[in-house]
Amino acid sequence: MKLFFQTKYDADKDGHFGDFGGRYMPEVLVPALEELTRAYEEIKRDKVFERELFKLYKDYLGRPTPLYLAENLTRHLGGAKIYLKNEGLLHTGAHKMNNSIAQALLAKKMGKRRLIAETGAGQHGLAVATVAAKFGFACTIYMGAKDVARQQPNVFFMKQLGAEVVAVEEGTKTLKDAVNMAIKDWLADPDDSYFLLGSTVGPHPYPSLVRDFQSIIGLEVKEQLTKRPDYLVACVGGGSNAIGLFNAFLDDQAVKMIGVEAGGQGVAKIGQHASRLTGRGRLGVVEGFKSYFLQDKEGNIQPTASISAGLDYAGIGPEHGSLYESKRVQYTQATDQEALRAYQLLAQKEGILAALESAHAVAAVIKLAPKLAKSKTIVVNISGRGDKDLFITADKLDRKNWRRYLKNQAENNG
Ligand SMILES: *Cc1c(COP(=O)(O)O)cnc(C)c1O
Repeated sequence: MKLFFQTKYDADKDGHFGDFGGRYMPEVLVPALEELTRAYEEIKRDKVFERELFKLYKDYLGRPTPLYLAENLTRHLGGAKIYLKNEGLLHTGAHKMNNSIAQALLAKKMGKRRLIAETGAGQHGLAVATVAAKFGFACTIYMGAKDVARQQPNVFFMKQLGAEVVAVEEGTKTLKDAVNMAIKDWLADPDDSYFLLGSTVGPHPYPSLVRDFQSIIGLEVKEQLTKRPDYLVACVGGGSNAIGLFNAFLDDQAVKMIGVEAGGQGVAKIGQHASRLTGRGRLGVVEGFKSYFLQDKEGNIQPTASISAGLDYAGIGPEHGSLYESKRVQYTQATDQEALRAYQLLAQKEGILAALESAHAVAAVIKLAPKLAKSKTIVVNISGRGDKDLFITADKLDRKNWRRYLKNQAENNG
């Protein structure tokens, strides 16, 4: 299995996927990005790097993850055969580790001593804090103060792993302010620090780099299936788990692909969803790259909302923008309600509690599978497991008992 390969949809050498991507950063950051690009080009040809990474994927993360035929769900929906690629069984519970551990290995090769990362809900921060502990890096995680307040479990875990968590009080006190602070920090110390970006977004080379490190997902699926799948389905936040599943199949036109965005409360309501492609995203340049963003006419980023923190992002990775334009991949969305129903159905039919992000992909499969012949196959990426969402799912699905429990806990232990 070869991790690094090119598809005809790949970026040019400046990181443009057609009209998308590129590198729109302040001049002062260009040397650091060029250093990273050179290191990335080197490891692509470095068999030792690939061997070390595959060993970490296997021994530390628990790869390969299973590709599991969901027989009960298939029978229930009465159409195409449904396979689940279960990234939820990976160490720390989601696909994010594929990227974090690979970039940590790259940072080590580059002689860096410290990892910096941004995080929204904390899942990426957790993955970075984990690999920092494993490799012995100092680690600073920037998180909006608002997110720190509402994501205490992840903040606690990151601290236990030895990371410094900085609550960002600037701006709207959310993810984009955390990104700005992380970049500021990186600028102050580019020799020693490595900025570990968590999805297929940002300036070149990150969208390509993160995609390559996630491509292991689709490469494994290719080996695990005896025949080619008819459909691949995955949820799309920044786009890393989706492109990770798709990449190995992109050049095979017989394989259809569907990316699922967060429909929130409905795409007709401004500020209540995160559907950049299937909603009303506009082309723009934000955070160093060109793509579709939810923004107003003046280019101000609009608020977004989703029940799943991982899909709640105003921009979409540039490669997805390009795959949308070329129609190689179809994009759709699932609402909060549909995702919750899919979460419950998968739990009851297969005994798998999926992350709410992944439940969006399952929601799309629930609509698709019954329309297809029984001879067809769908592979859906279960990007993560659902433990992390306990405070959301329990509050939505069993509010009275859950709130009583929280109150009792606070009173008895306070
Ligand atoms: C972060 C996250 C996502 C969304 O990020 P992508 O880069 O679009 O994959 C999806 N699922 C889970 C479980 C996540 O933690």
